[in-house]
Amino acid sequence: MPHSIDLSGRTALVTGASRGIGYFLAKDLAAAGAHVIAVARTIGGLEELDDEIKAAGGEATLVPLDLTDMSGIDRMGGAIHERWGKLDILVANAGILGVISPIGHVEAKTFEKVMEINVTATWRLIRAVDPLLRASDAGRAIVMSSGAAHSARAFWAPYAASKAAIEALVRSWAHETENMPLRVNAVNPGATRTAMRAQAMPGEDPQTLPHPSEVAEKIMPLASPALTETGLIFDVRKDRFVHYRMPE
Ligand code: NDP
Repeated sequence: MPHSIDLSGRTALVTGASRGIGYFLAKDLAAAGAHVIAVARTIGGLEELDDEIKAAGGEATLVPLDLTDMSGIDRMGGAIHERWGKLDILVANAGILGVISPIGHVEAKTFEKVMEINVTATWRLIRAVDPLLRASDAGRAIVMSSGAAHSARAFWAPYAASKAAIEALVRSWAHETENMPLRVNAVNPGATRTAMRAQAMPGEDPQTLPHPSEVAEKIMPLASPALTETGLIFDVRKDRFVHYRMPE
């Protein structure tokens, strides 16, 4: 869907662009005029996105990358620097659920994988592109969190801990950059009709949940050069920013 925000001449990096929320955000960013750098492991999903973007007159660069490849993340940062000298929009969206399980039954390798992809790779990506976002006249970072960071529901411990860590990263980064044009925010998309949600809640009827395209559309204003907020969580369901606090 064409968007009212004009991102022509801007470059946007989206992780987890092969499906779900990241796919539709990448599509919307390209429709708004941004050149999208689309990152994920599944080449088929990236190619489908590329076809859709090109059919709508947009531009994309596909980066098939496993985000556990930390030096690959660094190389991607270097390649963006060589080609554009800056990055305007980061969407750090890729993530995994791990397992829904009592904390004592979580396998070490599952816990480590959730932390590796959701936290370490997100930090590594931030580190790789922070100088590039600072080089933009209106750098925008959108980091996907979850309500789980605050609700810390029973059996969601690894995922909840990883998202709480992500929010702490976002807050620190926002504090470091608050006097710059760069704006850094987390997003709580709310329950969304994707593969991850189906893994978490197999008994739920997906049709009762918002489609990822609806969620992506609500997130788009965070990429706008006009955005002023930084260091906050954008709650998609409420369609507004919320401050960090514990639930009452
Ligand atoms: P999906 O499972 O549909 O998509 C996840 C994306 O992350 C895929 O594109 C996947 O690509 C990518 N990804 C996963 N692991 C890796 C990896 N090792 N390397 C590169 N890319 C990887 O998830 P959603 O769209 O539902 O979730 C997107 C974000 O939103 C996540 O951070 C999630 O935690 C968050 N969220 C989602 C909610 C929901 O209800 N859906 C609710 C709250 C938060 P590929 O497999 O091709 O590599």
